[in-house]
Amino acid sequence: MLYTGNNNNEKGQQGVSEQLETLRKKLLSAISQRQTIEVTRQEQVATLAQFIAKLSLVCKGIDLELDNRLASFRKQLSQGGNFQELGPIINELTTLLARHEANLESQLRQLYSCVNQAGVNLQQRKGLPGESRRTLRDLLNKHLQDVQTPLDFIPVFARLIYIYDEVLNACNTAQGDACPQVVAHFAAELTQLSVEISVQGEFAEQMRTLKHNINAATEFEQLLSASIELTRIIITSLSRERRSAQHFLAALNQSLGELQQLLTNTVDKSRQLDSKISAVYQQIDENINQLSQHTELATNIAELKNTVESRLANLTAQLLNKEQLEAEHRDTLHQGLQSMQSRMQDLEQQVQQYEASLERQRLMNMQDGLTKLPNRLAFDERFDLEFKQCQLNAAPLCLVVIDVDHFKLINDTYGHSAGDKTLLVLASAMKKAIRSSDFIARYGGEEFVLVMPNVDLENVVRPLEKLRTSVKSIPFKFKDKQVQITISIGATQVKANDTALSAFDRADQALYEAKHAGRDRLVVKQ
Ligand code: GH3
Ligand code: MG
Ligand code: MG
Repeated sequence: MLYTGNNNNEKGQQGVSEQLETLRKKLLSAISQRQTIEVTRQEQVATLAQFIAKLSLVCKGIDLELDNRLASFRKQLSQGGNFQELGPIINELTTLLARHEANLESQLRQLYSCVNQAGVNLQQRKGLPGESRRTLRDLLNKHLQDVQTPLDFIPVFARLIYIYDEVLNACNTAQGDACPQVVAHFAAELTQLSVEISVQGEFAEQMRTLKHNINAATEFEQLLSASIELTRIIITSLSRERRSAQHFLAALNQSLGELQQLLTNTVDKSRQLDSKISAVYQQIDENINQLSQHTELATNIAELKNTVESRLANLTAQLLNKEQLEAEHRDTLHQGLQSMQSRMQDLEQQVQQYEASLERQRLMNMQDGLTKLPNRLAFDERFDLEFKQCQLNAAPLCLVVIDVDHFKLINDTYGHSAGDKTLLVLASAMKKAIRSSDFIARYGGEEFVLVMPNVDLENVVRPLEKLRTSVKSIPFKFKDKQVQITISIGATQVKANDTALSAFDRADQALYEAKHAGRDRLVVKQ
C-alpha cells in the first residue's frame, strides 16, 4: 500500500478495519462451523460406539475369551477411548473373530451332516406318509443344499420337525400302538411270503388259517406270532419232505442190496451146477473111453455084450444125471432172472412213484395255492425264457402288470374269505380272457403279471382293454349287494437294451400311473 497523506491515511485505516471485521466474521463463522462438525462427529462416534457395543453383545456367550475382550472394548468405548488406544484391542478381536469364524464353519458342516442324517433316517422309516416322503425328499435334495449360514437352517429345521411330527401322528405313538402303515406293510410282506411257499396236506390248511390271521392282525404282536407260525409250518413241512426223501433212498438202498444178493446167489448156484455138469461130462467121457478099450480087448461076443450093456447103462444114467443137472441149471438161472426182474420192476415202480411225487412237488412250488395260476417263481422262469427268445429272434414281447383296484376294501367290508373267492374268480376270468400263447401268473397278493409273446405295443391295447372290461363286467355279489370290481393295468414292450428288471420296472411304473390317473384303466409305456 502507498502512503497518500492524512486523508489518505484515514481512508486507509478505515479500509483496514473493514477488512479486519470481515476476517473476524469469517473466523467466527469458521469456528462455529468447526464446533458444529465436532459436535456432529462426537455424536456420530458415540452412536457408532453404541452400535459397536450392541453388536459386540450379539457375540456374547459364544466364547469366554471373546466375551472378556469385547467387555473391555465396550468399556473403553463408553469412556470415549480414542482410536489409537482401541487399535490393539481391535486387532486382537479381529484375530479372535477369525478363529471363531473357522469354528463356526466347522460346526455348520457338522450341523449339516446331522440334519442330513436325521432326514435320511426318517426317509428309511417304513410307513412314512407319501406326502411327507416327498416333502422330505425335497428338503434334503433342495433346501438343505441351499443352506449357507446357520440362519438358513431355521426353515429347514422347522420343516424337518413338522415331518417328524406328522410321522409321530401317523404312528399314533401317543396311544402306544404300532404304526398302522408299518403293520400293514409287514402284513403284506408276510402274506406275500405265505403265497410264495406252497405246502401240502395238513400244512396247506394251517397256511390258510395263518393267512386269515395275518389279514385280521392289527397289532405287531399278532404279526410276530404269525411269523413264528409261518416259520414253524415251513420247517415242519420241509423236514417231512426230507424224511420222505430219506425214506425213499433207504428203500432204494435196501432193494438194491436184495437185488445184489439175488444175483450173487444165482451166480454161486450156477457155478456149482456148472462144476457138477463138468464132472458128469468127464465121467461120460471116461465111460466112452473104457467102452472102446473093452470093445477092442473083448475076445467073445457074450463078454462084449455084457461089457457094452453095463457101460451103456452107466452112460444112460450119467446122461440122465447130466440132463437133470442142466435142467436144474436152467431152472436156477430162470428163477434167479425172474426174481431179479420182479425186484427190478418193484424198484422201477418205487422210482416212478418218487419221480411223480417230486414232479407234483415241483408243480406245486410253481403254482399259487389259491388261484392255481402259476406263481412268481414260475413267472420268473417263464419270463426269463421268453425274454431270451425275444432277444434271440428279435420278436416283440409285451410285459403287463395288473393290480386289483381297492381290493383291501373288499376284505375289510366283506371279509377275507370273500376276498379269497374274488381272487379265485378274477384269476379264472383273466386266464380265460387271454390267448393260449400268453402266460399269466399271480405275482403276489392281488397283483398279476402277464407275458405276451409276439405282441407289440400297438397291438397290446385291444386285448388288454378287452381283459379290463371283461373283469369289470363280472357280476360279483356280496351279502346281496352287487359289487363291481375293476383292475388297473400297466404294459410295456421289452426293448433291445432292456434287462428283465428294467422292463418289469417300466411296466410297474405304467401301473403306478394308471392308479394315479384314477384306476380302472390301462397305461402303456414305451
Ligand atoms: P389299490 O387300488 O391302490 O391297489 O388299493 P388296494 O386296496 O388294492 O391295495 P393295497 O395294497 O392297499 O391292499 C391290497 C390288499 O390285498 C391287502 C391285502 O390284505 C389283500 N390281499 C393280499 N393277498 C390276499 C389274499 O391272498 N387273500 C385276500 N383275501 N386278500 C389278500
Ligand atoms: Mg397291490
Ligand atoms: Mg390293489
